[in-house]
Amino acid sequence: MRLSRYFLPVLKETPAEAQIVSHRLMLRAGMIKQTSAGIYSWLPLGFKVLRKIENIVHDEQIKAGHIPMQMPTLQTADLWRESGRYDAYGPEMLRMKDRHDRDMLFSPTAEELFTDTFRSYVRSYKDLPLTLYQIQWKFRDEIRPRFGVMRGREFYMKDGYNFDLTKADALHAYNRHLVSYLRTYERMGLQAIPMRADSGPIGGDDTHEFLVLADTGESEVFYDSQITDLTFGDREIDFDNKDQCQAVLEEFTSRYARTDETHDAEIFNKIPEERRRVARGIEVGQIFYFGTKYSEAMGATVQDAEGNVVPVHMGSHGIGVSRLLGAIIEASHDENGIIWPEGVTPFHVGIVNLKQGDDATDGACAQLEAALEAAGLEPLYDDRKERAGAKFATMDLIGLPWRVTIGPRGLEKGVVELTSRRTGESEELSMDAAVARLK
Ligand code: ATP
Ligand code: MG
Ligand code: MG
Ligand code: MG
Repeated sequence: MRLSRYFLPVLKETPAEAQIVSHRLMLRAGMIKQTSAGIYSWLPLGFKVLRKIENIVHDEQIKAGHIPMQMPTLQTADLWRESGRYDAYGPEMLRMKDRHDRDMLFSPTAEELFTDTFRSYVRSYKDLPLTLYQIQWKFRDEIRPRFGVMRGREFYMKDGYNFDLTKADALHAYNRHLVSYLRTYERMGLQAIPMRADSGPIGGDDTHEFLVLADTGESEVFYDSQITDLTFGDREIDFDNKDQCQAVLEEFTSRYARTDETHDAEIFNKIPEERRRVARGIEVGQIFYFGTKYSEAMGATVQDAEGNVVPVHMGSHGIGVSRLLGAIIEASHDENGIIWPEGVTPFHVGIVNLKQGDDATDGACAQLEAALEAAGLEPLYDDRKERAGAKFATMDLIGLPWRVTIGPRGLEKGVVELTSRRTGESEELSMDAAVARLK
């Protein structure tokens, strides 16, 4: 991509309305534009990162054996009356009427719709286990939308729903989600800690929230510092193996980690003092097991092996896809801008031309651009007639992990300059060597 042909409306001034760094940087880097309170347009750069995050979420869900589909954003109120949540959900639900005066709503979550889909088709235990999921826009009329995409009113969420014959099978689905979520966040360069939480309006007893530690987080969290030593890494996992998945749950819940809703000072105070941490966190996901709450209310049943008709055991599992952009930036930035982890960066590398209009330099930049594209990478080539300082500032702001700087002086020596956004370290090397390094 050539920057001269792209749409990257970078802001010079720091927007006054943005209180936290991720919101400021997303506005300044031309990623989002607020259209009304808590509702954003996703400009090309923001949209690109959103897609990268979405793709990782899909990839890990599919690896775990979960099946993607898509539900409508607008739903009839009737389903929610069946579950009893139409009245219970409260003012966060955006309600509307169609021209025939029928009550509609913009989906804030989709337990009812997935349960209805399930009961429409599935009759036998032989069709279980089943986990369906979607990544779809949600709307919650948050009382205080703030912090940009962190607490929007319209936001993008992955929501998955498991249907199982027994509680044991549903708890295996719960564990499968825990494992797949750990992998998902790590691929985005994030540490998200599963913490015991409160189930809120979804209902149920078993639930964990995944929290990214950050001073700007809205949740207060209490944990044993040893929990931050745990990483899933690149270990092999068989998602069908119940014992393996259970072992991961046990490992990642073996240390105290709770949100304020479930915090128990008595247990916490037994942890050696130097390991006790009270901090803040950003909720980037949550998993629930809620048994037969919805299946009983809505008649989602199957025949078991003995011919009995039984309600299925269910859970639901969410990831805040759009909130993750904010969380990643909160966790990875410096005073000059964003520092994208490799897994989600909008472009892999920026090319800065120090002497636009000089035939040799222009030619070298075009050659590097082509070589990087041939290597399967996406470069962003700053081919504008701008001062070098302004070009560097833009690259630092938008946070691409690598920058290659090309100018006449280097070309005389046969070298380009490769700079790491994270460390700031630069190295001179031949163009071929630079491409080989970035591959
Ligand atoms: P919160 O406690 O932040 O209000 P929640 O517990 O109400 O979130 P869930 O119902 O668990 O949210 O939804 C799953 C995920 O969707 C959350 O973990 C979060 O990452 C994301 N999410 C929830 N509300 C918002 C919002 N208003 N804006 C952006 N993302 C959100
Ligand atoms: Mg909420
Ligand atoms: Mg919450
Ligand atoms: Mg939650």
